[in-house]
Amino acid sequence: MKQIYKLFNPLGEIAPDSWGSQLQCPVCSCEYTHFAPPILKKNDNYEAWEGRGSAIKIPMYCEFGHEWEIVIGFHKGWCFMGIDNEKKMNEYNTEKYL
Ligand SMILES: [Zn+2]
Repeated sequence: MKQIYKLFNPLGEIAPDSWGSQLQCPVCSCEYTHFAPPILKKNDNYEAWEGRGSAIKIPMYCEFGHEWEIVIGFHKGWCFMGIDNEKKMNEYNTEKYL
C-alpha cells in the first residue's frame, strides 16, 4: 500500500474549503476521478490487506484510464489509509462501475 498523500491535489482550490481535500489520480495527477461502491473485507488473518484485520476498499478510476483503490486497513487497534492496486485499464469503460 502506498502513501495517501499522492491523492491530494495541491491546486484544488476551486471548491469551498468545507468540501475537504480534492482528490486526483495517483498515476497521472488529473482531477477527474470517480468512485465505485466500497468493499468491506472482514478478516483477522492477514488476508484483507497487509495488516491483520479488516479493510475497506474504495475502487477508483480517472477519466484517462487509470484505476486504483483507496484502502483503510485495521491492525491491532490502529487504522492505516493508503493507495493500492494502481493500474491502467485496458479500455476506459465507466459502465463497469455505474
Ligand atoms: Zn489517471
